[in-house]
Amino acid sequence: MPPMRTRFAPSPTGALHVGGVRTALFCQLMARHSEGSFVLRIEDTDRKRSEERFTEGILESMRWLALDWDEGPHFQSQRTPLYRDAIEKLVASGAAYRCTCTAEELQTHREAAKAAGTRISYSRHCRPGVGPGPVEGKPASLRIAVPLEGEVVFYDEIKGRIGFAVEEIEDFVIARSDGSPTYQLVVAVDDADMAITHVVRGDDHVNNTPKQILIYRALGLEPPKFAHLPMVLGADKGRLSKRHGAASVLEYRELGYYPDALVNFLARLGWSHGDQELFTRAELVEKFAIDDVNPSAGVFNAEKLDWVNAQYLRARTPEELAGDLREFARREENRELRGDEAWQSRMVETLRERASTLKGLLDSARYYLDEDLIFEEAAVKKLLVPEAAPLLDALIARLEALPTWDAPGLEETFRAVAEERDQKLGKLAQPVRVAVTGGKQSPGIFDVLEVIGRDWSLARLRTGVEMCGARSDPG
Ligand code: GLU
Repeated sequence: MPPMRTRFAPSPTGALHVGGVRTALFCQLMARHSEGSFVLRIEDTDRKRSEERFTEGILESMRWLALDWDEGPHFQSQRTPLYRDAIEKLVASGAAYRCTCTAEELQTHREAAKAAGTRISYSRHCRPGVGPGPVEGKPASLRIAVPLEGEVVFYDEIKGRIGFAVEEIEDFVIARSDGSPTYQLVVAVDDADMAITHVVRGDDHVNNTPKQILIYRALGLEPPKFAHLPMVLGADKGRLSKRHGAASVLEYRELGYYPDALVNFLARLGWSHGDQELFTRAELVEKFAIDDVNPSAGVFNAEKLDWVNAQYLRARTPEELAGDLREFARREENRELRGDEAWQSRMVETLRERASTLKGLLDSARYYLDEDLIFEEAAVKKLLVPEAAPLLDALIARLEALPTWDAPGLEETFRAVAEERDQKLGKLAQPVRVAVTGGKQSPGIFDVLEVIGRDWSLARLRTGVEMCGARSDPG
């Protein structure tokens, strides 16, 4: 058996989305698993719709996700002579014929086919021996003369046997009248030229496969194996689209997902290995097999992605996580985190159990990082009330005298004040939380105060007292 060669062949007509990444990932895993090669080919023959910025986005996405390829990127726009040769061969052998039907004539054929209820919309008007033939001297496209009898069959690695009766395959175009080759031709020619052994792609291409097989046969080439991946659906079982979340995979970077987590999540979208959920890259390479891909569509579950990402986030040490957050803040928000690295590590340590993404982590760290607080109105109304003022004042007086500002010392002080005032600890801790974080949810308040530091904490508590709308003497 020749070494396995897979390829990912995106068209640069839009951003790389989740479904495309999953295809690329499966291609890469198959190649790595069998120590073969993974080829990247940019299918940019549609000059009108292809854009450089989309190519860049695709390459950037693949690099971010470490979907490294071994060969390429090859650009179809640079391979025209190869396609021209194939076209000449197909015409010379009679496998392809000239068609001079105009757009209007083709429209008439389509309508007639519709009325007759046949699947094939082209009437084969120009096909030698079948129709009246082409008009000499008119610009011609080239069509493949599909066999008039039989079935084109292939064994899909995921879906099993797939057969198309020739009645379902029309004499398709391989070159337009301006000479430019079509997708069907270039894909087959390239896959053959690049010695691709396994074509793995979305199942929206199933209907193209018999056409490409006919091209292989007409060129005397052996078709590769095919594996068509079921689509990725949104939670509502509709085809995954922008309304289900990020459309471009790079948006997940902006949202603070880890590339390894996204890859882990996408690997499990339609593929499984027992009930294991978390895989390192090495495990994916070791365990991935295309036959374990589920033939029914995978559903994109955003909560599951968050869960997977949270597992990766929590597996980082506080120091690593602080480094991730610094880089994220720099890249996405063009800002530097305050404090030194040790302080930042302490900060993320208090937050990481509650965050599932770096963006979530950064958002939850606002009260550590920004001097000005954003207050939740309802929390202020409920907890920064006149009765809280004397408690806060008493606390401030004690805290000002505290020799070292650390969680155990803070806790002791809180307990002493609560006891002295005959109050439950919560009566004190709740307004403090609103005063120093702006809201009702936060990690343990003593850790929070320790990390916020003495100066900011005391200043915020004093403001909190003012917000209570009443002053009283500390007792
Ligand atoms: N360029 C095609 C696409 O982006 C893929 C073709 C293929 O994988 O055969 O849909």
